[in-house]
Amino acid sequence: MQKNNPIIINVPHSSTIIPSEELKYFTTKNLQHELDVMTDHFCDDLFDTGERMIRFPISRLVCDPERFRDDSKEIMASIGMGAIYTRCSDGAELKSISPAHKEKLLERYYDRYHMELENAVQSALDRFDKCLIIDGHSFYDEPLPYELNQDKNRPDICIGTDENHTPKETEHILKQFFTERGYTVEINRPFAGSLVPLKYYRKDKRVMSVMIEVNRRLYIDHEIRKKDGYFRVKSDIAEILSKI
Ligand SMILES: [Zn+2]
Repeated sequence: MQKNNPIIINVPHSSTIIPSEELKYFTTKNLQHELDVMTDHFCDDLFDTGERMIRFPISRLVCDPERFRDDSKEIMASIGMGAIYTRCSDGAELKSISPAHKEKLLERYYDRYHMELENAVQSALDRFDKCLIIDGHSFYDEPLPYELNQDKNRPDICIGTDENHTPKETEHILKQFFTERGYTVEINRPFAGSLVPLKYYRKDKRVMSVMIEVNRRLYIDHEIRKKDGYFRVKSDIAEILSKI
């Protein structure tokens, strides 16, 4: 049963599905490797705490809803990893598509997803006069070549915050909880920020958001097999979400 509270879990990167009609545009020979390293494997289960979840149905290699739609606003677009990736995580070509096709993908996947998220936020605002988006991700235990932060010393848990939309109290509670449970925790390192739908971004403080990024070494091995720590991470996430 879905819980009756203003929390929305956003999981944009857990799918490995590439629609068959899109496969022909991929030019890389390393598609499986890209799926292995770029997918937030099992995050739709790790963050499945009974709260409402909005989960992107296809792989981020087809379309990444966590990026800005407009390439001119998206810093990762300069390395071919805006909302529609054309480059792999090591900078090699991923796929080749026309501007018209790109727009079609944005309309079909990006816009629909953001509409679904916006509707969920609006219905939480209507019912509770507030909303807390939990942006649920995981990250590779070593920096991938495309990543902005190349420091090899990565924490177990990264909390991403937005200065306008993350309450300081929520940040402190999360940091304290995970630290007490024995995890190393950092704020906005190696990944910063948390998703807020554009409609509310810097316009409506009732929309709160915080990102929780889990280091993959805690729950899967390099063959994407679940490790013993998997259920500990899952139950710790469920416990802290029941407290905030
Ligand atoms: Zn992610």
